[in-house]
Amino acid sequence: MKKRKKLKIKPLFIIILLIIIIFIFLSIPKKNNPPKKQIKLTEEEVKMKKLNNINKKIDYFNNDYIDRYISYKEKNPDLSITQVVKNVNMNLDYNYYENTKETNINNKDLILVNKYYYLKEDYVPDNLESINVKNANGDRKLVSNAKKAFEELSNTAAQEGLNIIAMSTYRSYEYQVNLYNRYVENDGKEEADTYSGRPGHSEHQTGLAVDVYNKNETYTNFEKTKEFDWMQENAYKYGFILRFPKGKEKETGYQYESWHYRYVGKEAAKYIKEKDITLEEYHATIIKDW
Ligand SMILES: [Zn+2]
Repeated sequence: MKKRKKLKIKPLFIIILLIIIIFIFLSIPKKNNPPKKQIKLTEEEVKMKKLNNINKKIDYFNNDYIDRYISYKEKNPDLSITQVVKNVNMNLDYNYYENTKETNINNKDLILVNKYYYLKEDYVPDNLESINVKNANGDRKLVSNAKKAFEELSNTAAQEGLNIIAMSTYRSYEYQVNLYNRYVENDGKEEADTYSGRPGHSEHQTGLAVDVYNKNETYTNFEKTKEFDWMQENAYKYGFILRFPKGKEKETGYQYESWHYRYVGKEAAKYIKEKDITLEEYHATIIKDW
């Protein structure tokens, strides 16, 4: 009798246990994985989706520019989202001289002055020094660091029989006013804007830019000289970059100038040279000072 009773209870127990296990099994996925339809994207998430969530892949994404990125992408559907972010960070979605901002002078050697960023009328670098006369065609001034680096560059080139001479360096705001007005009178405003900065927008006012020539050729022919080849090879070692390269006219806002060099310091110059980028791109992706 005892044995029979035991046998009757066992299958019932197993069935109950099975039912409990099935219930538990069915309830687990419901709790942990709620159906996707229930997730509601925030307005920002919807926008980020349009930008392929690129903010997670690049560290120079600026959250304040989301709407500008989207509208620039709509106008330029062939550009990659990465390029869109880069271009908008460089303000290329604006026309030149539109929405201009005072530049951040705390960037020192890396100060950005272009058609979007300007220096105030009264900005004068506080450590201007005259370049040694043998390295310049007259009294030409640069900011102390840049002056030392330029003399070193020019002296080293001279040892190889090359003349790299400073022809135009620091220009005051007033000087730029006269220069720009003269260009406008000769060529008209549109043409003048392609090669000359409007007052406050010329980086010659930073005391970090130098136009060079070799004494024999006019500066506009600098590209054809041995000195130019030497600069291509060596300028970065002294902290200088070719500021307005060929093919980067849209980014810099200037036509190609083989004679205009800009001191940015050795580290930045090396990086800019290696990556084949402009100072604009360096700001847009490395300095990120928007
Ligand atoms: Zn220049």
